[in-house]
Amino acid sequence: MSNIEYNPKSEHAAEFIHDGEIRDTLSYAIEHRNDKALIEEILRKAEEGNGITHREAAVLIEVEDKEIVERIFHIARQIKERIYGNRIVMFAPLYLSNHCVNGCVYCPYHAQNRTIPRRKLTQDEIRREVIALQDMGHKRLALETGEHPKLSPIEYVLESIDTIYSIHHKNGAIRRVNVNIAATTIENYTRLKDAGIGTYILFEETYDRAAYEKLHPTGPKSDWAYHTEAMDRAMLGGIDDVGIGALFGLSSYRYDFVGILMHAEHLEARFGVGPHTISVPRIRPADDIDPTDFPNAVTDEVFRRIVAVLRIAVPYTGMIVSTRESQRSRELVLDVGVSQLSGGSRTSVGGYAEGIEDAEESAQFDISDNRTLDEIVGWLLDLDYVPSFCTACYREGRTGDRFMSLAKRGLIGNCCAPNALMTLAEYLEDYASPAVKLRGKQMIARQTAALPSLKVRDITMRNLEEIVKGKRDFRF
Ligand code: SF4
Ligand code: SF4
Repeated sequence: MSNIEYNPKSEHAAEFIHDGEIRDTLSYAIEHRNDKALIEEILRKAEEGNGITHREAAVLIEVEDKEIVERIFHIARQIKERIYGNRIVMFAPLYLSNHCVNGCVYCPYHAQNRTIPRRKLTQDEIRREVIALQDMGHKRLALETGEHPKLSPIEYVLESIDTIYSIHHKNGAIRRVNVNIAATTIENYTRLKDAGIGTYILFEETYDRAAYEKLHPTGPKSDWAYHTEAMDRAMLGGIDDVGIGALFGLSSYRYDFVGILMHAEHLEARFGVGPHTISVPRIRPADDIDPTDFPNAVTDEVFRRIVAVLRIAVPYTGMIVSTRESQRSRELVLDVGVSQLSGGSRTSVGGYAEGIEDAEESAQFDISDNRTLDEIVGWLLDLDYVPSFCTACYREGRTGDRFMSLAKRGLIGNCCAPNALMTLAEYLEDYASPAVKLRGKQMIARQTAALPSLKVRDITMRNLEEIVKGKRDFRF
């Protein structure tokens, strides 16, 4: 019996992602999955919209009664509508390099894979990629790179961020660069912060240490504790927006679901601010990776429940799904919690610009949703969502606890809604097809008229007129 105690405030991974606490939680959840009185109490708390604990959330994941499952979806939908309205924030990944020293068995970039072409973008190629992304209409990127201290050291990442922010092609600009790079030192996190990154993103892959060690047999990433404590170092280095996630299907989804929430509770307990986002990727086929090698695959139904209960448990944390998911499964999770989507994505190194060598063959995983950004924007409008290209909070310094306190007081609604409409208007003027432009303009007219504050409505209408005349970058 281990003598490590569960302590959400601890700086040690084994104490805040405590294996015993997770296993006890899973047994508790199974034991209480038909406990009507307890479930009612949890649902009442959930309806208040201030979150529930990992234990309570675990019970909701196990509930068997179909009517209660529908109530869970209903509550998640209400919370989502209250906090996020019908806005969906858009972004795209940008792969810088697929050189990697790690041995992650589920990723084709693992060091032993000799069949995949290895690519690292030059600054000139990054410029071409960013111009292609700007020409699609993107304003927000997530940088991705394999871990290779010699070929893609932190200096390369910092230089690439500078390059990205410096490019202004026609009316285009990348206004927020989120960064998904390997766990690193406090000093390097400070350098990323100073380079002006938005969110630092790092997925835990699986919180189950034993499974993690099997899935990561070689390379620096094999150190579970160093990887799991990365967000603590990021926060100590001054980054206050961090994005966590697990790769569902690698190991037990139940374990990883509880692990994500305990990670969020830990960041809140230790730093007073939880994660800015949670990503919910599922394992996908890729070069030399067969998903049938992973018997823990998560069904659409379970996936939807995971998203809904996360929305209930951490109402103010953005939730992201990527183009790993098909149009249909994205639709299933949009209405119960997801607030950010990627669109028009390429998961290869050099996949956006024309003519970058080996770009097609260097993908990290196969994409299920292959539609263009314009098609995704049109689809979201048809579903009555407002696609948003907003990056205002980060640029106004509303990050970390400042963002959370604003969000919790509901003030974000006065910023997000008009910002979504103004950034959508920019997109429509500069990049949309005629049909999408027409639908988008109708949406903007309807939604502007519905803005609750007269003052905000007036300013928004004025700014929308200016956008049509060619002015850009308005924000609340
Ligand atoms: Fe490298 Fe990341 Fe792929 Fe692991 S998941 S092999 S660290 S690129
Ligand atoms: Fe996100 Fe802030 Fe923009 Fe709202 S105003 S969409 S929270 S960046």
